[in-house]
Amino acid sequence: MRVFDHPNLANDWKCPVCGLADDKPVTLIAIHGTEDGSIVQAEQFHLDCLEPQYYRGINALIQRW
Ligand SMILES: [Zn+2]
Repeated sequence: MRVFDHPNLANDWKCPVCGLADDKPVTLIAIHGTEDGSIVQAEQFHLDCLEPQYYRGINALIQRW
């Protein structure tokens, strides 16, 4: 998981979890269902806003907020 020291604030971006545009490290999370060949859309999230849980039965990481 690649981490960026600062978010890209273009298009009035706000972290989907906290709803803020705070200048903190972010990572990109692929958006399920947007795959097109080797390309996929992604959303920025503050790294410290991510707290996924591992669902062993379905082999998935899920975070709800
Ligand atoms: Zn956040």
